[in-house]
Amino acid sequence: MSESSQRPPGFAYGPLKGSSSNVLNCEGVSLPQLADRFGTPLYVYSAEMIRERVSAFNIAFRGIEHTICYSVKANSNLSILRLLARLGCGFDVVSGGELQRVLRADRKSAKKVAFSGVGKTIPEIEAALKANILLFNVESASELEALATGAAKLKRKARIAFRVNPDVPADTHPYISTGLHKHKFGVPITEARKLYTHAASLPYLQVAGISVHIGSQITDFAPFGIAMERVADLVRQLRKDGHTIEYVDAGGGLGIDYKAHSERSFPAVAASYAREISKPLSKLHVKLLLEPGRSIIGPAGILLTRVLYRKTNGDKKFVIVDAAMNDLIRPSLYQAEHQIVPVKAGDKTPQVIDIVGPVCESGDFFARGRELPHVEEGDLLAILDAGAYGMALASNYNSRPRPAEVLVDGKSAKLIRRRETIADLLRSEL
Ligand SMILES: *Cc1c(COP(=O)(O)O)cnc(C)c1O
Repeated sequence: MSESSQRPPGFAYGPLKGSSSNVLNCEGVSLPQLADRFGTPLYVYSAEMIRERVSAFNIAFRGIEHTICYSVKANSNLSILRLLARLGCGFDVVSGGELQRVLRADRKSAKKVAFSGVGKTIPEIEAALKANILLFNVESASELEALATGAAKLKRKARIAFRVNPDVPADTHPYISTGLHKHKFGVPITEARKLYTHAASLPYLQVAGISVHIGSQITDFAPFGIAMERVADLVRQLRKDGHTIEYVDAGGGLGIDYKAHSERSFPAVAASYAREISKPLSKLHVKLLLEPGRSIIGPAGILLTRVLYRKTNGDKKFVIVDAAMNDLIRPSLYQAEHQIVPVKAGDKTPQVIDIVGPVCESGDFFARGRELPHVEEGDLLAILDAGAYGMALASNYNSRPRPAEVLVDGKSAKLIRRRETIADLLRSEL
């Protein structure tokens, strides 16, 4: 099978025991075996791939004191959070629910949590104060007041950074671009000095850093460098104003190659990203926080699905699979093009097909007009690079129970979330 249809060391083709065919494996476990054992649709993650990506980040940033605060919203499964905590990662959370997940996965990780988001509620702020998290990334003057009030009430010190909006365009899907002043995120960088002065005057608030996040799935790294230069200027300015700026939170957003056309390995990609981020910060002696989500977990996961039916409408050929937009919404929400490969490798002649799910919407598709080797009813397909914003965005639309999740490590495969049942769906209704 071609290079681009594999994601080593997580997903690679190999001979199936006791047969002549080549099948896609996750590490030491074959995907047909996982489908038999756990059913489909099924999210499958590779632990080794997660470890490799964290390690590539740490190597790329070895020249600067840093903490990886994995962005929980990309994939918030407790077992994955636990694995990342064991690797030394902290966490970026954007809700009280995500904070609860981190505390459940590893209570000690609270001291490495950054809390971002434009609409933190009072109960969420109070829960984070009680957990004594590392940093609140404050996104407005009003939110600063709410935090000051909460901190005074609980008599807890809150370390704060303002999330500044650097007004830097990043070439990505409009829904996940966040660093322009027309977006709802952050405070205008031009108003930051005034806000920091005000924050410093409030009891129980401790000015500690600056944060920035310009968007997601960014593959041209120059905007990261431009944003970071603006942040570095602000660090110098704020220090002149007498503030202690210990942390720079560079956000996340490092994109992945969904088409896998690139010749560059992830360590090389991480290194050039690190150069853009680190260069403006050299000599500033700040502690760097990184919030990657997608680039760690995206390629480490696939969505395994089975072909239910084939059908032909006029000159269009459809393959209907048992996964749908409620399981993986990225193609319909972001026009994302995930690679889809047959689990059983073969030399069947390619056909141009649409791969669609059972949900009652024309937007329920995984691929349109895609050339794929001929597949039969009952065959398995793997939708690649589905580890990030896959299960995290899954819903129960059409009253479909969400898929199970499995974490593979070497030859072991562990169920880390059981398949939802209809009873689960009905439980909370009155
Ligand atoms: C979504 C988000 C991230 C993670 O983005 P990725 O593109 O998944 O790396 C990091 N920080 C903040 C504040 C976010 O909103």
